[in-house]
Amino acid sequence: MDSIWTGGKIYSVDSSFNIYTGMAVKNGKILALGSTESISSMYKSKNSYSLNGKYVYPGFIDAHCHFIGYGLSQKQINLKGTNSWQECLKELQKFAKEKNIQPGEWITGRGWDQTVWNIKEWPDNEELSRIFPDIPVFIRRVDGHAGIANKLAIKLANISSLTRIEGGQIMIKNGQLTGLMTDNAMDLIIAGIPAANESQITEALQVAASNCYAVGLTGVVDCGISYDQAEIIQKVQESGNLKMKIYAMLSDEPANFTAILQKGKINTPSLKVRSFKVYGDGALGSRGACLLKDYTDMQGHRGFMLSSKEHFDSVASFLYNNDLQMCTHAIGDSSNRTILGIYARYLRGPNDRRWRIEHAQVIDPQDFGAFRRFNIIPSVQPTHATSDMYWAEQRLGPERIHSAYAYRSLLYQNNWLPLGTDFPVEDISPFKTFASAVFRQDEKDWPPEGFEPENAINRTQALRGMTFWAAKSTFEENDKGSLEPGKAADFIIVDTDIMQATHQQILKATVWETVINGEIVYSIRR
Ligand SMILES: [Zn+2]
Repeated sequence: MDSIWTGGKIYSVDSSFNIYTGMAVKNGKILALGSTESISSMYKSKNSYSLNGKYVYPGFIDAHCHFIGYGLSQKQINLKGTNSWQECLKELQKFAKEKNIQPGEWITGRGWDQTVWNIKEWPDNEELSRIFPDIPVFIRRVDGHAGIANKLAIKLANISSLTRIEGGQIMIKNGQLTGLMTDNAMDLIIAGIPAANESQITEALQVAASNCYAVGLTGVVDCGISYDQAEIIQKVQESGNLKMKIYAMLSDEPANFTAILQKGKINTPSLKVRSFKVYGDGALGSRGACLLKDYTDMQGHRGFMLSSKEHFDSVASFLYNNDLQMCTHAIGDSSNRTILGIYARYLRGPNDRRWRIEHAQVIDPQDFGAFRRFNIIPSVQPTHATSDMYWAEQRLGPERIHSAYAYRSLLYQNNWLPLGTDFPVEDISPFKTFASAVFRQDEKDWPPEGFEPENAINRTQALRGMTFWAAKSTFEENDKGSLEPGKAADFIIVDTDIMQATHQQILKATVWETVINGEIVYSIRR
């Protein structure tokens, strides 16, 4: 026996939602579950742990995040929580000084959000360029779908007021570039930023993993990395320096299609590469989401798709024929309709391909049924609802808002729903996901009755969404996602009973221990 755990409340999250008080682990897998008495009398181990009345859950799995991106962002400036553009500029100056950034080195980062500023207007780069004349700066909006560059960064990318780019906007005011750009236009800037090398990625993986263990994550779906990066993950895992289980979606780049054909899928116990992440449209905050009708707060504007229909179709055809999973970012109702239609052409009817739509954020009421008819899996992030609720109705109006962030309606299409956070867009904590999904309130308990509360899901559904259903969304439900004999011993010990606690108690829940394959990877009590 590796270890025996007794004296707690163990939520197995199996199909009957059984609760136990004791558990035995052998060879990294769960051997048995039962009462404290039966487990202690049947099994002996040098490692017998008392759970001290604490609560055990299957390790949380984030069904949609940017794991490497989050790890790398720990070395970049984080502008989340800033209240004005002036404050961003101040933070940038502080960062440049602290990190001793030299001329020619880049400053990159993310997190500003004009919708929460006192003056809710797009910034321009006048002052940014004055402060940093010889350091290129590019900082993205919180959703990653818009960014602002200073003049030097724009010069390095050869962008002028005449530059046009499909699927992206370069914003111009009084004939002048403002430094702002959205979606595909940002790629012009990003192409010039030196890519992270192997040692930086290795470090990013480890930093990201240790932060994730501390909030109870034992598995993540990294949405949109390169095949090369997946190979680095595999190498670090094989060296024993990374226990996190990773399902990596490859990004929609020619090199990744070539690599998967030449080198094949990756299938180890800790790393799976068998899917692609495709971008349908942009984000709602930057008005890049593609809507069927005009934005309520911008007449004549409906957003845009990031690629042609032909492109989505050819990717779908390739993935279908090579038995790969397609996962497409779709926010606006038009984007969702387009992608559902393309999926339907290949899936044709009931199937078990588990093709996913990431976010599935604004759905025309007519289109919910397509998720059911073609077994298309919506992959949603409940904290987006409670972050966006302050301005989403301005963008969508009083009607469309009812079928936006509609997690309960989406859940009932296939009777299962994977949950994620989209970190670093949102905080990494799965407890916030749980709280948002169930209470539809933000950390200030706002709004008191919950945002569009008819689309809340219940606690059992939310817990399944973060564990078993997240594993199912990556074809791994037989190996993990619930605590059952024969499955991986991936579990967490928490001080709070999230199935009973209040909203605020859930937000304050503390992870005591995180265990992956029977090995304690994080502990605050030892
Ligand atoms: Zn994402």
